Amino acid sequence: MASWAKVAATPPIADDASSTDDDSLDAATPTTPTQASDSSTDDDLPEMREVPTPQHIKQALTKPRVVDVVVIGAGVSGLRAARDLVERGRSVLVVEARDRCGGRVHTVRGRDRGAAWVHGVDGSPLAALAKEASVELEPVSARGNPWTSPPLLSGVAAVWRDGARVSDAHLLTRQHMYGAALRTCTRDVNEGDAWKALGPALRKQSPMADPLVRMHCSLAGLWMGAHADELQLREFAGATGLVDERWGDHAGAHSHIVGGMASILDPLLDGVDVELGFEVSSIDIVEDGVEVCSGTARCVRGTVCICTLPLGVLQSSQISFSPSLTDDRVACLNRLGVARYTKVWLTWEEPWWRSDPGRPFIICVDEGDTHMSSIMCEDVSSPSEFVLEACLAGSDADAFDTDPQRGLAAVLTRLGVAFGAAYPGPPHKTDATAWQGDRFSRGAYSFWKVGARATDVAEVGESHCERVLFAGEHTSVEYQGSVCGALESGSRAAREAEALLAA
Ligand SMILES: Cc1cc2nc3c(=O)[nH]c(=O)nc-3n(C[C@H](O)[C@H](O)[C@H](O)COP(=O)(O)OP(=O)(O)OC[C@H]3O[C@@H](n4cnc5c(N)ncnc54)[C@H](O)[C@@H]3O)c2cc1C
Repeated sequence: MASWAKVAATPPIADDASSTDDDSLDAATPTTPTQASDSSTDDDLPEMREVPTPQHIKQALTKPRVVDVVVIGAGVSGLRAARDLVERGRSVLVVEARDRCGGRVHTVRGRDRGAAWVHGVDGSPLAALAKEASVELEPVSARGNPWTSPPLLSGVAAVWRDGARVSDAHLLTRQHMYGAALRTCTRDVNEGDAWKALGPALRKQSPMADPLVRMHCSLAGLWMGAHADELQLREFAGATGLVDERWGDHAGAHSHIVGGMASILDPLLDGVDVELGFEVSSIDIVEDGVEVCSGTARCVRGTVCICTLPLGVLQSSQISFSPSLTDDRVACLNRLGVARYTKVWLTWEEPWWRSDPGRPFIICVDEGDTHMSSIMCEDVSSPSEFVLEACLAGSDADAFDTDPQRGLAAVLTRLGVAFGAAYPGPPHKTDATAWQGDRFSRGAYSFWKVGARATDVAEVGESHCERVLFAGEHTSVEYQGSVCGALESGSRAAREAEALLAA
């Protein structure tokens, strides 16, 4: 096997896995500016200028492609990093395990199976990308985040419970009660309390006896993709539930992207080389660079690697690092939580829920005085079918994943209880996501679970041996868990890679 520097003179193979044979032999392919500046001499070039023998072909096929930067993962963070580096003239290869780009941004027939919301448009890199992609935004909650600022819910969502629609006036009193309860239990939060959970603290507050007050707590759980008992009390310190506190979102309207979130991928893919179906199993620091392999036969090398593997994948230890990740980093990774969030699509012959077309989503309140949960439903009908999207988070999503048949029955029962006589019986078609069981995501997005420290997020984003950089939503301190966080982390990692390459 040729040395690292010698291999750098080998022309790149195309991103199409099926064309590996041809490309390895394509000695006429021009080198990129960075490759041309490599210190290789003629002697270093592989002996393929002459008529290739089967032995030569075999050798060429086993040589890894060499680039300035290998990016692992063609999700938003990986593509953002790759795009930024390509713009700076770097040679980049993105390797992606799936047969598609986008990762947790995935739109199928206009329906977003992953991210769907632009959480605030003012100054948002996601809104800017939507503009670059020439796609429109459709504001849903004009004044801000309805999950974490209960008063913003009125006018955005219609709340149904026990077969009747809850009036806005009634809802407003419950929002004030929730705000008071939140204020009381977070007022004295200090370092000692910081690691306590939100749910149990709130349950001690008398207003929480009211199911509609509890519903607001469960909305915070829906936002984080976890049960309120897993959320840090500390994160809510200072929050009142009555003003537009921002948990990792931007100011301005919370909006959908017309046509689906995947439309934003187009500008990110411009000029970026992606090899699909490349499931990374090992990341090894080698002399002068990083070797990224899928099994033993398929490898690629970069001077630097940007790893955007999702938090759940990193926690699962399904990827080997050499040298191993430090114990400190592993502890930080494990202190962070992975949200569970499942979307269920229910198709009926009639849009029986459309009693209030001006309000695009509906909250169905669950019963029970300790289990706080609600289901957010949204009308995602197309001209050809009437579809309700139901979103489950935390333990509700866990229950659905464990037994989808039972989970579905539970969703339908809740709809029946909430809507009473208006509910027509089971839908004729159903579909659901399974992000938690997906080996390339292992969950929906990251959140700060009880016990996570403020420094953990920053630490998981630090470089490994100054060769492997980390990006991905879980490494964004300010916008963790979102597409904006992923974009921001990709740009940050690209700057770090550039600095290492320039050094
Ligand atoms: C159901 C759901 C709803 C959401 N709703 C919103 C929302 O409304 N708004 C919002 O802003 N955010 C939302 N999010 C979060 C948002 O989707 C993510 O934060 C963001 O897309 C993550 O981007 P990423 O690049 O960090 O990770 P990913 O998109 O997961 O990219 C990582 C890539 O690595 C690949 N990969 C994994 N393992 C390997 C391997 N071994 N080898 C090679 N490649 C591998 C994956 O296939 C993936 O393509 C939601 C997420 C989910 C799941």
